[in-house]
Amino acid sequence: FAAVGSSKAWAFYQASIDPHRPEQLSLMGELREALTRGQLELFYQPKLTLPTRRLDSAEALVRWQHPVRGAISPDVFIGMAEDTGNIQRLTRWVLETAIAQVSQWRVQGLQLRVAVNLSAHDLGDADLPQYIVDLAALHRLPHEQLTLEITERAVIGEFDAVSRVLQQLGEEGFHIAIDDFGVGQSSLSYLHKFPIDELKIDQSFIKHLNDDSDDRIIVRSIVELSHDLGYHVTAEGVEDEGTLDYLASIGCDHAQGYFVARPMNADSLAHLITTQPKSSHA
Ligand code: C2E
Ligand code: MG
Ligand code: MG
Ligand code: MG
Repeated sequence: FAAVGSSKAWAFYQASIDPHRPEQLSLMGELREALTRGQLELFYQPKLTLPTRRLDSAEALVRWQHPVRGAISPDVFIGMAEDTGNIQRLTRWVLETAIAQVSQWRVQGLQLRVAVNLSAHDLGDADLPQYIVDLAALHRLPHEQLTLEITERAVIGEFDAVSRVLQQLGEEGFHIAIDDFGVGQSSLSYLHKFPIDELKIDQSFIKHLNDDSDDRIIVRSIVELSHDLGYHVTAEGVEDEGTLDYLASIGCDHAQGYFVARPMNADSLAHLITTQPKSSHA
């Protein structure tokens, strides 16, 4: 049975890893060590609340500073972590680091909501909700200060298991956001079965808002429908002022993107939040 299991695992590898690129194989081996050697770091990208034009929350984005290769994108190593069975450790490291950071900011008088990304595999982890509850208790973090982002693609997995995990997290008062909305082939009527607080519109719809009237219609409709269903809406990938102003004009709640701010380390984020004008534009 062990042999069958391992050959299955190998088949899974081959599906996602190019065997002609041996450097990927060695990288996968190094990922586990990266976790223990402190090569991973969390960056934080602020989110702007549009009606008040205040920065009041941030998304934690993991970074791998490889000693030889330099910065490696999470788009590369999250998939590797999933394929090699390291995603549970990685997710728990991210959660622990982010929660410890938010509660440290709290002690310093900085009230911020922070979002952590979960992977599809995490939603099959029945112990995850209790793990997060215990972490929050340890760090005295009010549950509403933590948002869990789940891609639209991830919730299309096994309905019962995903539903149980999200239900538990929702009942505990954590916020739940659907990430990359619009590219995952699902529908709002399907997503509405889950306890969702926020919808994040994928950046591919936001990129061309200045000149593409079809994307304007789509985004305006998503915002309206989301509000009718009781969700907050965030636009991802806002790169210029025209886009930001358009989003504000259609009642979008939050904006995130390089025009607002790039992802930055924890100290830079704290500095930016505490030195922002009391109320710009308002
Ligand atoms: P995401 O959660 O949708 O995060 C947004 C990504 O878009 C980030 O890339 C961010 O740096 C980038 N971005 C933000 N604003 C702009 C913009 O204006 N223009 C453009 N072109 N890009 C923008 P990043 O940090 O490389 O992360 C990529 C993805 O990796 C994330 O997409 C998320 O799905 C995943 N990820 C990141 N951190 C974690 C983590 O701790 N755990 C898990 N499971 N996944 C993570
Ligand atoms: Mg995200
Ligand atoms: Mg809720
Ligand atoms: Mg996204």
